[in-house]
Amino acid sequence: MPLAPRKRDTVVPEPPRASALPASGRPADELLARLRDLRAADAPTRGGRTFAYVYDPGLPEVDELAAAAYGAFATVNGLDPTVFPSVARLENDVVGAVNAVLGAPGAQGTFTSGGTESILLAVKAARDHARAVRGVTRPQLVLPSTAHAAFHKAAHYLGLETVVVPVDPVTFRAVASEVAGAITDRTALVVVSAPSYAHGVQDPVEQVASAADERGVLCHVDACIGGWFLPFLARAGRPVEPFGLSVRGVTSLSVDLHKYGYADKGASVVLYRDAELRRHQYFAHAGWPGYPVVNPTVQGTKSGGLLAQAWAVLHHLGEDGYTALAERVARAADALLPGLRATDGVRVLGEPAGSLVAFTVTGPAADRAAAPDADAGSPDLGLVLHVADEMRERGWYLQPQLSYDGLPPNLHLTLTPATADRVGELLVDLAESVAAARALEPVVVDPGLVELAAGLDPDALTPEEVAGFLAFAGLGGEGSGLPTRMAPVLALLDALPPRLKERLLAEFVGSLFRV
Ligand SMILES: *Cc1c(COP(=O)(O)O)cnc(C)c1O
Repeated sequence: MPLAPRKRDTVVPEPPRASALPASGRPADELLARLRDLRAADAPTRGGRTFAYVYDPGLPEVDELAAAAYGAFATVNGLDPTVFPSVARLENDVVGAVNAVLGAPGAQGTFTSGGTESILLAVKAARDHARAVRGVTRPQLVLPSTAHAAFHKAAHYLGLETVVVPVDPVTFRAVASEVAGAITDRTALVVVSAPSYAHGVQDPVEQVASAADERGVLCHVDACIGGWFLPFLARAGRPVEPFGLSVRGVTSLSVDLHKYGYADKGASVVLYRDAELRRHQYFAHAGWPGYPVVNPTVQGTKSGGLLAQAWAVLHHLGEDGYTALAERVARAADALLPGLRATDGVRVLGEPAGSLVAFTVTGPAADRAAAPDADAGSPDLGLVLHVADEMRERGWYLQPQLSYDGLPPNLHLTLTPATADRVGELLVDLAESVAAARALEPVVVDPGLVELAAGLDPDALTPEEVAGFLAFAGLGGEGSGLPTRMAPVLALLDALPPRLKERLLAEFVGSLFRV
């Protein structure tokens, strides 16, 4: 029943946007239809036009299998494998399969909810190991600047100090001697990526891991994205540099099954060289009156469904299935890379290890008002962002990545089997988008605003000041949603100091979750 209209001068609190629980329950088909409708505004997760976030094997039966396997285990609680022994059985199978590809004799691991959780756990294990074995009380985490943000999150959550080592500005790979030089007696863990998310290039794993080994320090390989792709690429006969636990000095490794394992979201594995190291990941607590707690992972109660669907997809695809899918992705890269390199105004960054490509856009626009003193042919942030918007209007999602510490802004593409048939179309639209971007007004960021921002203390901003800033950036206003063109917003963000950027992003995302 709609409420009677109130008098204008009455102060009425804003009603919450999300609707309250219905007084009487709605029928299932209505709700499922509503859920399907809500997807309409999302980027498509299947069909090969979304080049980030989703991993489409192009095999509908894999999706059906994952959903059915999840359903069969949805009500099982992975919290207690003594009550649900199936969970231990499935986890041993999944971790065993991963260990057989990426592990070494004696290695042990855990199934987790994703790359971030695998990384949190590896950092926690390293921190506690360093404390117990080496007496390190103020632990440091040594990481190349291209290491995934999840390591910074782990350091933040777990109280480690980060030591960030710049990468080579041409290859975007970690420089082994510099990473080794950053190791101190306080280093709990050294990180390398195989490959890095941002540029898709592989760090010199063997050199860094052996340098860590010589200092008696642990070394984690972040193979979240490459770990279930590169081994099968090698099996398909392509060159791949070793990066697993069999490499001397590698002591832990993370690999996401919800990426190139093609499982649904919520599936990853963290491996350790031995049980002694994995022990430091576990949390046990008997000092309360409830059931005795042993949590290998961050979560307590967890659905058996995620494990079951990952298990089913792994065993359905098998070695041959994954090899065929890796081959398809490699063929997509074979077509894409020369096409990109031949596109006027496009520059591929580094030598991609296989499935991830980052490119920047350079322009004749460099001599225009936006960047009067830039060299023609140098990366142009405004063009990069315009191209992303132009591509989005043509039905493609490419992921914008902002500039960082001298590394150029760029667009990131995650190749999956479903994208393989799309490369020709993509290249045509990209060439058009670059031309269209160059013809657009350059993206201009108000220098006065940037100067003002540089003088602000991000932590001391009031909610009103933050809201004002967001509104100015084009992100403000109740219910205004996202602008259709993101270039002006992202260009402003790019120009702001990191802490202010973080504060604004957090407030912005908070504004999306209104209740
Ligand atoms: C995806 C990814 C992560 C983080 O994993 P989530 O599953 O998103 O939590 C970490 N490292 C790399 C290299 C990744 O690609």
